[in-house]
Amino acid sequence: MTEQESLISTRVIKVDPEHPEEGSLREAGRIIREGGLVAFPTETVYGLGGNGLDAGASAKIYAAKGRPSDNPLILHIADPEALTDIVEEIPEAAKLLMERFWPGPLTIIFRKKDCVPYATTGGLDTVAVRMPSHPTAQMLIREAGVPIAAPSANLSGRPSPTTAEHVIRDLSGRIEMIIDSGAVGIGLESTIVDVTGERPVLLRPGYITYEMLEDLLNEVQIDPVITETKPDPNLKPKAPGMKYRHYAPKGDLVIVKGPMDAVIRAINEACEKDHAAGYTTGVLASSEAAASYHADVVSDCGSRENLEEIAHNLFAVLRDFDEQGVEKIYAECFDGEALGMAVMNRLRKAAGYHMMTVE
Ligand code: AMP
Ligand code: MG
Repeated sequence: MTEQESLISTRVIKVDPEHPEEGSLREAGRIIREGGLVAFPTETVYGLGGNGLDAGASAKIYAAKGRPSDNPLILHIADPEALTDIVEEIPEAAKLLMERFWPGPLTIIFRKKDCVPYATTGGLDTVAVRMPSHPTAQMLIREAGVPIAAPSANLSGRPSPTTAEHVIRDLSGRIEMIIDSGAVGIGLESTIVDVTGERPVLLRPGYITYEMLEDLLNEVQIDPVITETKPDPNLKPKAPGMKYRHYAPKGDLVIVKGPMDAVIRAINEACEKDHAAGYTTGVLASSEAAASYHADVVSDCGSRENLEEIAHNLFAVLRDFDEQGVEKIYAECFDGEALGMAVMNRLRKAAGYHMMTVE
């Protein structure tokens, strides 16, 4: 980042999440129309928004995040009608998905129209589009009057932000405005489905689960990158961005898999060793087991019976380990069905696929 860019003063405004006051986002909309950047809440995570039809604004998004420019951005719209301006065609499967899941945490990949710059799509002929349900996000998009390109509002590689404080920590001084509407609801990024091929393909799991998609569309394929437990150098990801390191806390993170009593024993032994070697240790625990761990920081991520709670807390807990200077982190493994597919996908990436199996 150049010295001039680092001089941007970032305004933080508070906006009621459920009932944003009429006119409260006018200035934010103007900033986006004029090519500036505004971070805003959605129901999934906080987004870093710019005019998605302006190549210059997209370039600023990549620069502010330190994100590689071949990792495509998602366009956010407030009305399904806005879709026809930016995509070539709306396949039948997309119509079904939009009807069932929009507005909501589902991103759909379409063939793009020429007005969508390659700077926004990372050079692809396709474009990712989502219609968020968060009232603040909807009002901002309407005020801006353009589709808003918005990746998660974190520095590239860090856990996605689920509160305005997370955004302030990562992007203050790099963007014009941050809209603070408190903590987001879901806590994991949107589900992504590609409908440009013969069969729909799940590219990223999220709150809208594979099971829900399969129920509606039948024959949904799962991109192998999603469930891999070790990066396969021969596997070519469908979206370039899928190859990048993601969500990582600063400390070393290892996922420990096995029966709960063995997991607890193994984690306690590892923490004891690390502690003796002078490291600050942390455990990402379920509520059921949290009291059984001996570590410097034990973070209760929620009940194993309630994956929505785990999803909601996951990124905040990972960031909190950084805040507390934790150097060695051990995480429990969660069931990979339904919402668990999204949780484990993020956790595996955060751990750099470092997994330990115990018996
Ligand atoms: P985020 O990291 O939340 O900004 O989401 C962006 C992700 O959406 C990228 O990393 C890609 O995985 C996916 N994506 C965006 N545009 C496309 C596209 N045209 N084709 C396939 N995947 C896409
Ligand atoms: Mg992201």
